[in-house]
Amino acid sequence: MYLYNSLTHKKELFKPNCPDVVKMYTCGPTVYHYAHIGNLRTYIMEDVLEKALRYTGYNVKRVMNITDVGHLASDADTGEDKMVKGAKRENKTVMQIAQFYTDAFFEDCRKLNIKRPEVVEPATNCIDNYIGMVSRLIENGKAYIAGGNVYFDTSKLGQYYVFNDHDEEDLAVGVREGVEEDKNKKNRNDFVLWFTKSKFEDQALKWDSPWGVGYPGWHIECSCISIKHLGADLDIHCGGIDNAFPHHTNEIAQSESFLGHKWCNYWFHVHHLNTDTGKMSKSKGEFLTVSLLEEKGFDPMVYRLFCLQSHYRRNLVFSWENLENAKIAYEKLVSKIATLQDDGVVDEAAFNALKERFTNALNADLNTSLAVTAVYDVLKAKTNDGTKLAALKDFDSVMCLNLLQAAQSLRQKQKQVEESSADPEIDALVLARTEAKKAKNFAKADAIRDELKARGIEIIDTPQGTKWRKV
Ligand code: AMP
Ligand code: ZN
Repeated sequence: MYLYNSLTHKKELFKPNCPDVVKMYTCGPTVYHYAHIGNLRTYIMEDVLEKALRYTGYNVKRVMNITDVGHLASDADTGEDKMVKGAKRENKTVMQIAQFYTDAFFEDCRKLNIKRPEVVEPATNCIDNYIGMVSRLIENGKAYIAGGNVYFDTSKLGQYYVFNDHDEEDLAVGVREGVEEDKNKKNRNDFVLWFTKSKFEDQALKWDSPWGVGYPGWHIECSCISIKHLGADLDIHCGGIDNAFPHHTNEIAQSESFLGHKWCNYWFHVHHLNTDTGKMSKSKGEFLTVSLLEEKGFDPMVYRLFCLQSHYRRNLVFSWENLENAKIAYEKLVSKIATLQDDGVVDEAAFNALKERFTNALNADLNTSLAVTAVYDVLKAKTNDGTKLAALKDFDSVMCLNLLQAAQSLRQKQKQVEESSADPEIDALVLARTEAKKAKNFAKADAIRDELKARGIEIIDTPQGTKWRKV
């Protein structure tokens, strides 16, 4: 598989250190609020990466942290701790907030068919590991104590800006105007490994350490949790592109200074989901969640397809109209699949040809939009339905769009439609809705649908026209 590596700025043939197992680390969520669908785009694409690696024959050991301490409002170690902020907002303790939003995150993942990594480790579980790493960095002369805090000394590194292909704007995060400057830092990019002084009074969780009672900086958790579970050599590290700097740069700095050798070979960064007003972010207040999509009538699988239709290294623009188009595409796919009749026969040659297209798409830097095209190719292929269904099932082990399940339930619904006795009044309403839709009078169409719903009637759009059934 060829993957773009942000470390070398090139597409490279992926080769794990050990041929049997890929060691993969993922920056987990900061659990002070619900995940927004931008965050979840990153987790969807990382999930596809893991499944694509498994599909091509690797075993994958994947580890994710849960940030429940130390992530300050600014990535440059300033501002309030996000967890403390969340706890104040909801009048709860930090640990209650962490538990609630961790559960909410995995519930969103479940809805989106994002597999839970084998190891999920909350940052507050590993305080001893951080103390060990920070002590070693001080001994090595890579860290210093100033104003009570422990800082990483970036002037001691041969190389610091390793992801220098991203925007000036990203790099400027630590020096943005208006961000208060930490006078203890010797160099502009130095970062906190352990806090004992700044923001201390506000911090709910604190631990004893050789440098006084305090709490860890944000970056240290990912280095320690990765090394704890995956050892000194990591194959692939993933995260959203905003994590590339300063978070991942700092992870590399401290991990390699601690280990004394190169740490991670491949860096996989997912670009942002934007709205027409810019990057989606929680700090802006209003943000979109999976539950909101559901409330608006979108199956989470539609959002997964929406993400898969575009490449992970491009920004993706969210709009309700774009999502509506993905919904139409999803429903068309499902209704076509629902017409396939399983004859139980698989033509090996035809199956392999279809599979090759799909595999090639994944191998080309995880080109999921081509992989979606490979799904359409199956439906167009000149082969029997049994082969098509076998290919779709095979592809869906990576795509995880529930295509076959959705087709099966559509077939069941259609059967119920056929079985329900005719009702001229309902038929007339259904027809009126179809006509309102044709005339683009969506308000009227929606009003009729709501009325039918109130009467316990569900409308089903099928290739043979609109049908209904009693629910
Ligand atoms: P956080 O919970 O803020 O630590 O972020 C969780 C993950 O979402 C990280 O990998 C971020 O890089 C990623 N992320 C944040 N904002 C976006 C966005 N608008 N689009 C895609 N990924 C994002
Ligand atoms: Zn991280």
